Amino acid sequence: MRAGIGYDSHRYVAGRPLVLAGEVIPHDRGLAGHSDADAVAHAVTDALLGAAALGDIGTHFPPTDERWRDADSMAMLRQVVALLGERRCEVVNADVTVICEAPKLGPHAAAMRARLADALGVDLDAVSIKAKSNEGMGWIGRGEGLAALAVATIRCA
Ligand code: MG
Repeated sequence: MRAGIGYDSHRYVAGRPLVLAGEVIPHDRGLAGHSDADAVAHAVTDALLGAAALGDIGTHFPPTDERWRDADSMAMLRQVVALLGERRCEVVNADVTVICEAPKLGPHAAAMRARLADALGVDLDAVSIKAKSNEGMGWIGRGEGLAALAVATIRCA
């Protein structure tokens, strides 16, 4: 068994959809980024790569590469799960905390969890998503952006 941690943050901007764990969440702004800026997918991807000691999301999907412009980050996550599979590693579980002042993510947690479980190839009860506000403090409190933390464990043969 191996564990990895992932962290990601993106700035809110007008004119983009807010996509978290592949779920489009109604909000007046979305996240800026080269890909679809899905901070949950990115944090989980980095947690898996960290668990396998296979670098990070930036080395596998460089933001300078036009292939990943507006890319579906859940597809990138699936690619990393496949990469682990080639190395005879499988995902055991993932636990995610999303920190943002708005929108309220509680109503969307179940859908996000189901999408993550599907991408990771695990049962629903192997995936957890929790949402926190930052109690109005700092850049998250001011609503400038959103952050996601993820821990994942993998089992390798
Ligand atoms: Mg990111």
